[in-house]
Amino acid sequence: MSVRMRSRYSQYSLQARRAAKWLAIRGGLEAISLATISRLVSPKSSKGVIFTMHHVRPDQSGSFAPNAHLSITPEFLEKTIEMLLSRGWIPVHLDDMPRHLEDPDDNGRYMAFTLDDGYRDNQQFAYPVFKRLKIPFTIFVTAGFVSRTRSIWWETLEQTLAASTRISIELDGQEHEFNTVSKLEKYVAFDYISDCFPGTDEDRFVAAIDEAAHRAGVDPMAIVDREVLSESELRFLCVDPLVSLGAHTVTHISLAHASLDRVEDEISRSAEFVSEICGKPTESFAFPYGGRRAACHREFETISDLGFSVAVTTRPGLLQRTHTLTPTAMPRVSLNGYHQNIRYVRALLSGLPFLFAPAVPVKTSSS
Ligand SMILES: [Zn+2]
Repeated sequence: MSVRMRSRYSQYSLQARRAAKWLAIRGGLEAISLATISRLVSPKSSKGVIFTMHHVRPDQSGSFAPNAHLSITPEFLEKTIEMLLSRGWIPVHLDDMPRHLEDPDDNGRYMAFTLDDGYRDNQQFAYPVFKRLKIPFTIFVTAGFVSRTRSIWWETLEQTLAASTRISIELDGQEHEFNTVSKLEKYVAFDYISDCFPGTDEDRFVAAIDEAAHRAGVDPMAIVDREVLSESELRFLCVDPLVSLGAHTVTHISLAHASLDRVEDEISRSAEFVSEICGKPTESFAFPYGGRRAACHREFETISDLGFSVAVTTRPGLLQRTHTLTPTAMPRVSLNGYHQNIRYVRALLSGLPFLFAPAVPVKTSSS
């Protein structure tokens, strides 16, 4: 069965929702920035921060870039680190963060940098910045991307839409067709298809996007090969004591939607893969997608049971001493490609944007 987009109105409302979301976040960061500068509000004290990044590469704005929030420039990374160092933040390896947090006599404020998915630009553009400023960092590796056995659906979808004037794709048993001539139509198709992702059969979803890509003349695995570090490149990086590798599953699946057997297999096999590359057991893990719908109690406990000392989510927040109670459910702060402004980083470090973010509840033995 063929299903078209319902109306022109729904296309614009989808696009308007996307624009409104990013504008609202930016507006909030501007307001907090002004309020803290003019001392209308006091920043919340914190013990630490773990930053999330994905791509680090030169600005690609202007082209069709629905994943632009996942990409920051090396210049912005450098300015951010220099600002943090000038304010007394101490760089540490992620693995050491819980130890610093739990020491009651330690009054330092610590920062750790993490990069998810293992993109090749991490080596090309981020590594020189970290090396020059002597900053440790962790790359979370998805085993299936490195071994070229799993495609990256959001990258495949972006490049398929960029190369097409019309695509068809099967979602939940129905064939959907999209005109993708204009940039707006490409964004609408990207948002519509992405919105179908949460809770879906992820293997079928990825396969459907791969199939649509092939029909459009785009090779999903060639994208992975171009964008993601190879095993030998990761081995080379690992030699530097500034670099740590962490696990990030085999297929980048949303763990909360998978069976327990699959969850344990994804975590264990990806940890073995990473440990073999760096020649020592990996202690850290990042939950793919990392939000409340992608990782919760069962996943936090599984990670803990499998012996990881620290695991990170994408739940937003700074670190307090209480986070040592949940070292396998750490919040992070995203360096977002849409908000590359040092004022916004200062606003995030005030802790105010996270005041109303729900904390990860501590599960007791009786609960
Ligand atoms: Zn990821």
